Amino acid sequence: MASLRISGVSVAFGGNRALDGVGLSAEPGRVTGLIGPNGAGKSTLFDVASGLRRPSSGQVFLDGRDVTRTSPAGRARRGLARTFQRLELFGRLTVRDNLLVAAELGPDRRRAHHAVTETLTRLGLTHLADSPPDALPTGVGRLVEVGRAMVIRPKVLLLDEPAAGQDSEETERFAALLRSLTDDGTAVVLVEHDMSLVMGVCDEVYVLDLGKVIASGPPEVIRNDETVLAAYLGD
Ligand code: ADP
Ligand code: MG
Repeated sequence: MASLRISGVSVAFGGNRALDGVGLSAEPGRVTGLIGPNGAGKSTLFDVASGLRRPSSGQVFLDGRDVTRTSPAGRARRGLARTFQRLELFGRLTVRDNLLVAAELGPDRRRAHHAVTETLTRLGLTHLADSPPDALPTGVGRLVEVGRAMVIRPKVLLLDEPAAGQDSEETERFAALLRSLTDDGTAVVLVEHDMSLVMGVCDEVYVLDLGKVIASGPPEVIRNDETVLAAYLGD
């Protein structure tokens, strides 16, 4: 069963249809890519999945349960975590406290401190635990943002352009981190513009254009899909 299933989701902003009947499934232990030009609706789909925006139609299921009307906090307790394209860190708290705030929202608050220590180790951020994100480079801030999502040991992890602003070495380390998350059985959904990262780590890729899924399939198929190329090249 898919950990996350989105079915027939539509969202409009005034007359602008940001999402128009979108469906997507994310499976445990797999990275599902979500790509598409700017304004395609990728971040809005994450808002719908995480409960920050109610769709005008359609449903969201977590582990088969309909959570369309469940609050963001309720979805976090059910194992859904996300990052934001624009970093949503507390700039002047420490890195450790940024993670701790997130850990307290997860399903197992009693092990919050332990989970924070473990996540910092896994991300190689232990030496920066007492620094505030405001004092760190953007690439590191992105990792802290990912850490905030990872710390609840999510079943479903939505990552919105997590590698933006990372150099190639950071991106490579990030790809390894993604693989270790899927080894744990996490269902990862990755929004990313870096095509070599997407094609390298994703098991399946969905292409969104003007609020609609125009293609989905394995990366090697998507890469050669003419509809996809046309959407990117502004046919
Ligand atoms: P992407 O993440 O793929 O770049 P978005 O989901 O951010 O796309 O945006 C999809 C469409 O919805 C765009 O046309 C964008 O301008 C519009 N949009 C997104 N958020 C809002 C909002 N809060 N109010 C009005 N329009 C929005
Ligand atoms: Mg976006």
